[in-house]
Amino acid sequence: MFDDIPTVTLPSGTSIPALGIGTWNMGEARSDEAQEIASIRKAVALGMTVVDTAEMYADGRSEEIVGQAIEGLRDQVFLVSKVYPFNASAKGTIEACERSLKRLGTERLDLYLLHWRGSHPLEETVEAFETLKAQGKITDWGVSNFDTDDMEELFSVPDGRNCAANQVLYNLSRRGPDYDLLPWCQQHGIPVMAYSPIEQGKLLKDHELIRIAKAYQATPAQLALAFILERDGVIAIPKSAKPERVEENRGATDLDISDADWAALDAAFPPPQKKVSLEML
Ligand code: NAP
Repeated sequence: MFDDIPTVTLPSGTSIPALGIGTWNMGEARSDEAQEIASIRKAVALGMTVVDTAEMYADGRSEEIVGQAIEGLRDQVFLVSKVYPFNASAKGTIEACERSLKRLGTERLDLYLLHWRGSHPLEETVEAFETLKAQGKITDWGVSNFDTDDMEELFSVPDGRNCAANQVLYNLSRRGPDYDLLPWCQQHGIPVMAYSPIEQGKLLKDHELIRIAKAYQATPAQLALAFILERDGVIAIPKSAKPERVEENRGATDLDISDADWAALDAAFPPPQKKVSLEML
């Protein structure tokens, strides 16, 4: 048995778990698909019900894998997908969403994100998102890879304040958002989805992370995720295509880190002292 997963409240009032699963690189090889489906189903069974995908991932195959994994479980899942910036015109956004829905085998996304900023005006994309909402094809929309100035610009366009989330690169080794973006989103009630929360596995070799994790009989991945779960309004979406690692990641909720060890982590991964432009992968 694990401790409960903390929750994050969307502007609509809906609560979702602060721990989910990512699916980038799933769907790239047929031989891996059974494991990928098992991992997504494991995450949902363990309460990590935020499932993140995108039309970009494996050219849509990731969405098909997610569709297969959540068959019969749709109501338990908070389903997130993303539109390519080059598709994010008034008409293109709607057509891209319809293709995603088909691949996912569902009639509705819980959250639809603009994957990153492109050349289509924000007004157009927001208008399309609002149309999709009115049509019942999405419940909420948001953005990804938006820095503070992008969020301010978004809030200045019609209906821009209806944004329900911002998904950004955030982990112990990428603490730029701690300086201004995270406080901005917290003040405006916009949940942040932390992507690559274990830096695609690269964080796990850090000696200090390993040392502190060991003191709690925990793994470095669990400690890296606990760092994110400690923050208000932030959701971590670690990707794993191995059910046993999904279970390990779920255990991140059970760490009770002392103030001294949080300080040791801050020393090893210092928070920014000035503005750092948002990084992206
Ligand atoms: P990540 O979640 O930080 O790391 C995933 C990698 O770590 C995989 O190679 C995985 O391998 C491994 N891993 C997972 N749990 C582990 C554990 N407990 N121990 C050891 N290794 C472990 O990186 P990510 O996939 O880049 O980010 C997560 C999700 O965020 C993505 O899948 C995607 O949904 C989203 N994302 C969004 C954007 C954006 O622009 N919006 C960009 C990047 C990512 P195995 O699968 O073999 O376990």
